[in-house]
Amino acid sequence: MSAPRSVEEQLRIVLSAVRMLPAETLPIERAAGRTLSTPVCAAHDLPLFDNSAMDGFAVRTADTTDADAAHPAVLRVVADLPAGTDADPSLGAGEAARIMTGSPVPAAADAVVPFEQTAGGLADSLGEVQVLRPPSVGAHIRRRGSDLRAGDVVIAAGVRLGAFQIAGAIAAGVAEVEVARRPRLAVVSTGSELVDAGTPPARGRIPDSNGPLLRALVAGAESEIVFTARVIDEAEAVTLAVTDAVAAGADVVVFTGGVSAGAYEPVRGAFEGGGHIEFVPVAMQPGKPQAFGVLPSGTLVFGLPGNPVSVAVSFEVFVRPALLALQGRSSLFRRRARLTAAAGWRTPPGRRQYLPAVVDLEAGTVRPATTGGSGSHLAGGLARAEAFAVVPAEVEAVSAGDAVDVMLVT
Ligand code: AMP
Ligand code: MG
Repeated sequence: MSAPRSVEEQLRIVLSAVRMLPAETLPIERAAGRTLSTPVCAAHDLPLFDNSAMDGFAVRTADTTDADAAHPAVLRVVADLPAGTDADPSLGAGEAARIMTGSPVPAAADAVVPFEQTAGGLADSLGEVQVLRPPSVGAHIRRRGSDLRAGDVVIAAGVRLGAFQIAGAIAAGVAEVEVARRPRLAVVSTGSELVDAGTPPARGRIPDSNGPLLRALVAGAESEIVFTARVIDEAEAVTLAVTDAVAAGADVVVFTGGVSAGAYEPVRGAFEGGGHIEFVPVAMQPGKPQAFGVLPSGTLVFGLPGNPVSVAVSFEVFVRPALLALQGRSSLFRRRARLTAAAGWRTPPGRRQYLPAVVDLEAGTVRPATTGGSGSHLAGGLARAEAFAVVPAEVEAVSAGDAVDVMLVT
């Protein structure tokens, strides 16, 4: 095997092979999780009109100048403005309108007096109101356009449409968005030892956990599965799976297992020497044997080493950024936190470690999720992980109290 390649270099190669997927127009409520291809701009001002921030009375401040509790300004209530009204009553000297939160403030009024600052209060709708202290000009009025102006960019291209973004865009009058098409994925588990979940495993057999692992991870990267298969350790089975995956429209095929240097390595057997897929050791642990390339069809192919922790780490480090880049996402990487090791652990020499970890963000600490070391086969420990501690290749061991970079994955 050649000298290991750095994680950065491998990631650079992966990302430089990515071509952004075409955009499509969707009703915004069907676009949750999608990445914007075009910025969302406000269709109208936000707020749409000057409106009241309080339940109270719309007044002319000129009428209330000297009001105090002993000498309240007594105003005639000439209109009632519930939410949804389109009325714009004119207010003469000494007149006020009862107004509810969000209702349009009459053009003639220049302040709202909350009902708590009146005598008579809210119940006194069309009678008299006593204002107990003078409001300042503009008090409790939410001005038209104070949040956004028509045409302002509400959300930049490359941003994921989450709940907050959808709410903001709709409030700004947007009904449709241009988003990237979801990447179409094929997930293929290789291994003659694999059986379906729930099938009692005979001696030598194990459940295929990588397939379901990847399907869930892919869904979390806003991508869609168009093909799944489990194949035995024969190169022909891998070749056939690729043909089927491409026929199913896959933009990306992810294999697990069968990429290292053993005797039965079907992914290697199917692709090595073909000129499209490269097999390379990467200086990371787990996840050292990596395969990546682009088929003549344009399909990206990842071959991840088969151990479950290797699959999880390889997905996070290489596949997920590629899936987000396909969608034009401006931020490709998980959140990171710098936390204090609550316990020590060993690290592999010369390779960057991605250790399944448990974090306590309040205490600012991180600890290994696995008890039996950092073995890539520790699928049970993976079940406890909510993060990966990322330890540089040159660090030989982590001691309790050390500061550690942590990739948060949940
Ligand atoms: P491989 O990369 O094919 O040599 O596999 C490495 C290890 O991961 C072996 O112990 C495999 O049995 C295990 N493994 C491979 N594929 C899967 C899978 N889909 N689910 C669970 N374990 C797997
Ligand atoms: Mg295998």
